[in-house]
Amino acid sequence: MIIKPAFLVIMLISILPCYAQENDDFIRVKDLSADFIYDMRYATANNFLKEKVYECADCVLRKEVGEALVKANSYFLKKGYKIKFFDCYRPLDVQKAMWKVLPDGRYVANPNSGSIHNRGGAVDITLTDLQGNELDMGTDFDYFGEKAHFDYSDLPEQIISNRKLLKTGLELFGFQGIRTEWWHYNYSKARQYSLSNFKTNCD
Ligand SMILES: [Zn+2]
Repeated sequence: MIIKPAFLVIMLISILPCYAQENDDFIRVKDLSADFIYDMRYATANNFLKEKVYECADCVLRKEVGEALVKANSYFLKKGYKIKFFDCYRPLDVQKAMWKVLPDGRYVANPNSGSIHNRGGAVDITLTDLQGNELDMGTDFDYFGEKAHFDYSDLPEQIISNRKLLKTGLELFGFQGIRTEWWHYNYSKARQYSLSNFKTNCD
């Protein structure tokens, strides 16, 4: 079979988006704003994998996602709160390691389809007061159970109100939560982003 050059070009163009995995579209959030707080759990052993899987504790995201979070943080700052990050972009290899430990689609995305974290478009976050004290959200980050579900109602009024504060503010800037984890938010356009597997370092 003879493949015409024009056909080859079309084939290449159709393949190219799969390789849009360079980190050109990504930024470190700290380069956009100094007003965030960080507790990047996968850069420590304090996570459900019980090991440090990130070399660097920076929050890396698609540029427009980071910019939307800067706006959201300004909104929260005016109310007396700050965004604190637990996780941002996550390489696909780390997703695979997570799936091995917890192959439950309610809490970990199957690496075959990938997580929005692997696309640089999801964040795991909470709110603190201006002194950096975390608001009570009822459970720790990565508590895999009903108590962490957004619609779990057997909680003190203050906790429900804290969860709503986070959700309401983020929705104003293009983020959507998920039912099973109060800390996880996807940027609305993030499903269009390709999966990535580059590692971040602190250079
Ligand atoms: Zn998440």
